[in-house]
Amino acid sequence: MVLPSSALGASGNPDVVVVGAGSAGLAAARTLLDEGLSIVVLEAAGRIGGRAWTESDTFGVPFDHGCSWVMGPADLPYVAMAREWGFTLHNHNSAGESVFVGDRKATGQESREYDRAWEAINSALNKAGRDGLDVAASTVVPSDMQFSGVSQTWIGPMDFAVDFDELSTLDNWNFGDAGAYYMIREGYGALVSRDGSGLPVKLNTPVTAIDWSGEGVAVETPSGTVRARACIVTVSTGVLGSGDISFAPALPVWKQEAIDRLPMGLLMKIALEFDGERFGLGDNNWLTYHVENLLPARACYFLTFPFSFDLMIGFTGGRFGRELAAAGSDAAVDFALGELAAIFGNDVHKHFVRGLATDWDSNPWTRGAYAAAVPGHHGARDELARPIADRVFFAGEATAAPWYQLAGGAWLNGRSVAREVAATLS
Ligand SMILES: Cc1cc2nc3c(=O)[nH]c(=O)nc-3n(C[C@H](O)[C@H](O)[C@H](O)COP(=O)(O)OP(=O)(O)OC[C@H]3O[C@@H](n4cnc5c(N)ncnc54)[C@H](O)[C@@H]3O)c2cc1C
Repeated sequence: MVLPSSALGASGNPDVVVVGAGSAGLAAARTLLDEGLSIVVLEAAGRIGGRAWTESDTFGVPFDHGCSWVMGPADLPYVAMAREWGFTLHNHNSAGESVFVGDRKATGQESREYDRAWEAINSALNKAGRDGLDVAASTVVPSDMQFSGVSQTWIGPMDFAVDFDELSTLDNWNFGDAGAYYMIREGYGALVSRDGSGLPVKLNTPVTAIDWSGEGVAVETPSGTVRARACIVTVSTGVLGSGDISFAPALPVWKQEAIDRLPMGLLMKIALEFDGERFGLGDNNWLTYHVENLLPARACYFLTFPFSFDLMIGFTGGRFGRELAAAGSDAAVDFALGELAAIFGNDVHKHFVRGLATDWDSNPWTRGAYAAAVPGHHGARDELARPIADRVFFAGEATAAPWYQLAGGAWLNGRSVAREVAATLS
């Protein structure tokens, strides 16, 4: 393999190989270079960014297939980068929400019931967290309120990417408060790509094996082997669990268990373009509708017309999301349109232009949306984060406490693991 000269240290090999050029890998790479180490980033896909991916070909406006809200602590570096590079941030903390029951807006009484369901469910989840309980969220929340199913669908599949019976109460409790919560007009993926520009990344170079039996590591790819003193593995737990990267010696049992206890959930976006019709809905708002309490709900809730684009972005996830993803993009788009038609009538079809559903499950470099700890195993995040033999390090959203599941968390985690690697190697 021919490596860029910036990737070669005095030995002719880089000090560190970073596996994966998503948020974590790019942040790690930049930090290692700042620490004076030589590096190379090996990326399986033909682009950088990983689960941060903006494209404008489908709708003529930026559409993020993966992350789109810049979330995390108030001083998240992505916020400062976006400002410095002239990206347009929209604070989305106080977005409005239209709630429907069937084909009409919720009455005042129903809206109060909806608020009551959120309060009751959050308070039950918080109590479980405070008590240190790590159990399935479904076992601690009330499920017989008029809007229980709605709140549980928002918090479960559409936020944590798993259904309530698969959501760990400690994962929910330990998740960091969002000080930053912005939409970004030009796309989150575009920001992450910009952050990675100029780094020594080898695209289309999947890592197939990591041999850590010797002094350093030997990282194998179809185009050759790279030897280094250490590596940082930033691929998803979906990829780690697939066995597509083999380790020699095999990963210790505790590490393999941590991977198994952090399976990937699925969040799916179903983007629908309309001809300018707004259906009485505001820009940058949410559209929610009542579902029965029989979970998982076959539902899709919407972000309406972000940045005044003619797009409604539906969200679905968990088991039902997986069912739709398996059925394919056209079936998912039909489903989402059908849900809108049930509210606004068949004119929805007349105003529809085109649609697209994302499918991160079938992406071999991701194999799902993001990791959710199996109830009872929130601690697996710390185990996954533990390095092996001071030369195989792990970073990425799954280990990014307390900002796990987030691109901003992955970035912060990539930076902190890179600093740990630099300290270890010095
Ligand atoms: C639909 C969806 C919506 C989301 N919404 C948000 C949101 O609004 N806000 C938010 O903050 N987060 C959101 N997220 C989560 C966020 O996108 C991820 O947490 C974050 O991008 C993960 O970054 P990472 O670096 O850990 O992993 P990745 O971005 O997955 O990076 C890992 C890289 O490794 C590469 N790779 C895989 N296998 C190999 C291999 N064998 N060899 C070499 N390279 C390999 C991959 O191609 C990838 O580029 C969303 C995710 C999805 C899917």
